[in-house]
Amino acid sequence: MKTPLLVASLRGYAIVISVLGILTPLLVFGGLRPVLVDTALDDLTSTALMLRGALAPRMLEGDLAGADSIAQELCAETGVRITVIDPDGRVMIDTDAAPSSMESHRTRPEVISAFQTGRGTAVRKSSTLNLDMLYSAILIEQAGEPIAVVRASRPFRLLSVVLSGIGARILVLAAAAVSISALIAWLFSRSVTLPVGKLAEAFERIEAGDYSIRMEPSRIREFDSLNAGFNEAAQKTESLVSDLSERTSQFHAMLESAYGPIAVLDSAGRLIFANRAFRLLGSGGAMEGLDYREVVSNPELLSVLGRALTAGEPGQDKISAGGRIWTAAHAPVPGHSQVVLSMADITEIENLAATKRDFAVNVAHELRTPLTAIKGFAETLAEKTDTEGRRYIETILRNTDRLIALVRDVQTLAQIESPGFQLDLQPVDLFPVLTLTVELFEPAAGRKGLDLSLVAREVPLVNGDVFRLQQVFINLLDNAVKYTETGSVRVTLAREEEQALVEFSDTGPGIPSEAIPRLCERFFVVDQSRSRQMGGTGLGLAIVKHILMLHGGSLSIKSEPGRGSVFSVRLPLAEPPARAS
Ligand code: ADP
Repeated sequence: MKTPLLVASLRGYAIVISVLGILTPLLVFGGLRPVLVDTALDDLTSTALMLRGALAPRMLEGDLAGADSIAQELCAETGVRITVIDPDGRVMIDTDAAPSSMESHRTRPEVISAFQTGRGTAVRKSSTLNLDMLYSAILIEQAGEPIAVVRASRPFRLLSVVLSGIGARILVLAAAAVSISALIAWLFSRSVTLPVGKLAEAFERIEAGDYSIRMEPSRIREFDSLNAGFNEAAQKTESLVSDLSERTSQFHAMLESAYGPIAVLDSAGRLIFANRAFRLLGSGGAMEGLDYREVVSNPELLSVLGRALTAGEPGQDKISAGGRIWTAAHAPVPGHSQVVLSMADITEIENLAATKRDFAVNVAHELRTPLTAIKGFAETLAEKTDTEGRRYIETILRNTDRLIALVRDVQTLAQIESPGFQLDLQPVDLFPVLTLTVELFEPAAGRKGLDLSLVAREVPLVNGDVFRLQQVFINLLDNAVKYTETGSVRVTLAREEEQALVEFSDTGPGIPSEAIPRLCERFFVVDQSRSRQMGGTGLGLAIVKHILMLHGGSLSIKSEPGRGSVFSVRLPLAEPPARAS
């Protein structure tokens, strides 16, 4: 238990007061003792003198019995023990004991001194009574000869003497002084502890959330500046807290009314905050303090929250919940073991994308048959037509080919971008695939007089869809051969760390640097008229990029206008099969 300040500050005073309270009477009594002893001895000597006056005549007459009875009477009157000792130390009379039973008193200091000087005193501790005894002895003599010594003795009770007189007053005074000192000490201590106590109380109120508390000015300078400092700090805290709570309420209202579900969870999975939209996806009721598994039942949302808690880094997922499609982004709260989940409704965007995809696929599908028919009839017509008409029909045929290529590319893109699309993955050796692709383009390259070559190093298998990879290689080699008029087109296969690297280099026109980042955009062509002339659709590289992305690979392009281009494909190598141990 903690000691209160008042008690702690009084402890010192209490020790000082107690020491003084005890020492003072002890010192006073100690100083009084010799004075009192001397007084008592003087008193006893007067008694002894009086006894000598009363006993001496009988003793000188040799009437020991008469002297004894006088001694007994005087003892009864004065309360003093009377002993008469002869010069040999033998006890002749004693008022307390039978003289015959008493030992020789020759060695008693007061007796020795009385026989030598006429009187003697002594103070001795009585072993039987455990008291200080006072003795006073007076010599009885006759014609200068010592006859005997009369000794008066009495116990000396210092405490009773002291208490019965001045001592009792000293004790009362000491007690009064101690009490007054204690009271003054208490008052002084209180004058210090009271303001400290008030300050402590004020801090407790602040801790409990009452920031309106202020301290009164104090008459003690240090406390006054302490109180003023406290008031200033309390005032600042009050305005800060009110500012903060205003902002928190605004923030809370914003989050609460946000259309997208938002939730904050602690590391144990308990919900710290859940806005209305989030609550509607779960149990609908209050969620704060509850485990997310108790209030969320949608399996996709449950697994997103589980991932958010274990990921330790930001992430994003696409999920279906409450009949809508959402992107759910999660991120750890920096400096706290908490995660935030915020979701955005992308149902409309997804529906629109699906509609666009369906429309493209449907239009392409519907166009394919009439286009094939037009091409067939145009070819037949071309065979039967003279030179003049053939020129027009060949234009029709070229444009029909372009349209057919466009329809094909649109269909391919729609197909590979559809959410249900899956690659037919298997370990693929790229070398035969590339050999076949290069062979396909040998006639076209030969027609243009291009030097087409394949340089391949041994590369491990990649995990891929052969058909789609061939589509990638055909597109890239088609472009290289299509856009290169003179020089060479080279395909190389090599290993680069844990990836297979396939490069298509040509000595074609090259691509301006500002166009390179946009090459994979749909329908983007560098030179409109040339692409049209070459029968391009502007979709080839978009297809290439998407297929590579589905494989976890990448496409990078390096080119310099007038010097040619290099299209680099990187594909992750297949995991080597685990060896049987
Ligand atoms: P296209 O069907 O028009 O070839 P792509 O998507 O395949 O469409 O290519 C987009 C554009 O990139 C082309 O129109 C062309 O301008 C440029 N391009 C692609 N490959 C090369 C290349 N090897 N050399 C020069 N330009 C190229």
